[in-house]
Amino acid sequence: MVLAYIGLGSNLEEPLAQIKRAFDELGNLPHTRLTARSALYQSRAIGPQQPDYVNAVARLETGLTSLDLLDALQAIEQVHRRVRLQHWGPRTLDLDLLLYGAETIQHPRLVVPHPYLTQRAFVLYPLADIDPNLQLPDGQSLQALLQQCPFEDIVRLPKSH
Ligand code: AMP
Repeated sequence: MVLAYIGLGSNLEEPLAQIKRAFDELGNLPHTRLTARSALYQSRAIGPQQPDYVNAVARLETGLTSLDLLDALQAIEQVHRRVRLQHWGPRTLDLDLLLYGAETIQHPRLVVPHPYLTQRAFVLYPLADIDPNLQLPDGQSLQALLQQCPFEDIVRLPKSH
């Protein structure tokens, strides 16, 4: 079994509901258990003007290979995109494989650790909710990365969500 961390993001079609449902779907994947979920965060979109995102991180214990897990994440994304076809949008749900055990992966379909992991507050702070002492495969500590990444443009949503 491998510990894998998944970044969740949504800014369309009731993002909070999308993220909550995605947590359940991750926990229902074959050979997989959802072992932790971060708080939910609201973050300002990067790039062209668009609605704020809701972001979170899930920790999975999985027997799936990294590519099988990527396939499973993409299948969940597809289901969410079909919810209301007239509002189809690329960010109804975005699932990123952030970390897969201590592996470094350079594959045409899969780069792990995920390239934006080290710079984005909406990934680093939720990761710290789950495992504040996490280390990346190259030995960088999450705490060191957090010190270089101010808590900016994100808001931690109250637990009632
Ligand atoms: P995006 O929708 O912007 O997240 O990009 C999805 C594409 O990124 C897919 O074609 C994936 O094969 C590729 N990809 C590469 N590395 C990763 C990763 N660590 N997690 C998720 N998708 C990835």
